[in-house]
Amino acid sequence: MTQKISRRSFLKGTAATACSLAAAGIPVTASGAGNEQPLATLLDIRKCIGCEACVEACKEVNEKKYPVPKKPFPRMYPNRVPVMDWSEKQDVIDRLTPYNWLYIQRAFVNINGKDTEIAIPRRCMHCVNPPCVKLCPWGAAKQLENGISRIDSEICLGGAKCKAVCPWHIPQRQTGVGIYLDILPSLAGNGVMFKCDRCYNRIAEGELPACIEVCPEDVQTIGPRDKIIKKAHELAREINGYIYGEKENGGTNTIYVSPVPFQQLNKAIEKGKGKLHLNPVKDTMADANKLAAAMIIAPIAGVAAAAGKFYKMTKSSE
Ligand code: SF4
Ligand code: SF4
Ligand code: SF4
Repeated sequence: MTQKISRRSFLKGTAATACSLAAAGIPVTASGAGNEQPLATLLDIRKCIGCEACVEACKEVNEKKYPVPKKPFPRMYPNRVPVMDWSEKQDVIDRLTPYNWLYIQRAFVNINGKDTEIAIPRRCMHCVNPPCVKLCPWGAAKQLENGISRIDSEICLGGAKCKAVCPWHIPQRQTGVGIYLDILPSLAGNGVMFKCDRCYNRIAEGELPACIEVCPEDVQTIGPRDKIIKKAHELAREINGYIYGEKENGGTNTIYVSPVPFQQLNKAIEKGKGKLHLNPVKDTMADANKLAAAMIIAPIAGVAAAAGKFYKMTKSSE
């Protein structure tokens, strides 16, 4: 049933088909410059055959962004932030890691009396109002105009606030990389946090995210959020299905449509570290205390980000 697309065939496909946002009917404005509508994706999970070509493509195009840690790691005093080292386990693809930003979750469910395997691509949901961005104390997590959230590895200290406030605990830390090594090696942070950045650099060039481009089953559709929400509702009506992501955490830019209820899928999937749940999620940013914290943090974050950049500049001119 599964079809494996090798890295080589992905590269060939990219050159041959030259898939682009424009070819997929996405207005150029959605690529990030002056765009009013966030970009969202619809995942029709009936179509996913679990081949993991998307996982492989993600690894291939993002390889240069992956951490290259310096070893041995500096010792932390006090040892508050645990060491996380995935550098020797880069081949792990059944969960999120700093070297794997997308994985396929599997659920065995009964549909119309038939045992069926459902495969669900999981990665950052790209929340409309992302707590990882709003509550990062250093301004390292950012949201682009097209709604994409990403972590700037040149500013991140690896303190994992983003992971703590993310309802799915998505960002993953690698120790031994980043600015913490130079400025606060034993007092704060402990590496850099990594997660799906929605292939923001490909989108800025008018290209599709790699996982969308390579998928042989067209599981994902990308477009302005209002159009994607409309499509999701049409599809859900048509198949008598269910939607996840429209309302979760106040709304995300990743909308799943499933033929079985998400509560049922949630019971059937493996959960745990680096493995995401499918629970309903309340709007965490609606919490007044957190919102207030975010407003206080914002100026500090700006200063921290500027200081980080300045530090890097002076360091590189030494
Ligand atoms: S989303 Fe597409 S590429 Fe990824 S596992 Fe499913 S069918 Fe394969
Ligand atoms: S899903 Fe988590 S990591 Fe992704 S944008 Fe939302 S809060 Fe941030
Ligand atoms: S959008 Fe890009 S970074 Fe995110 S899962 Fe897909 S290929 Fe990976």
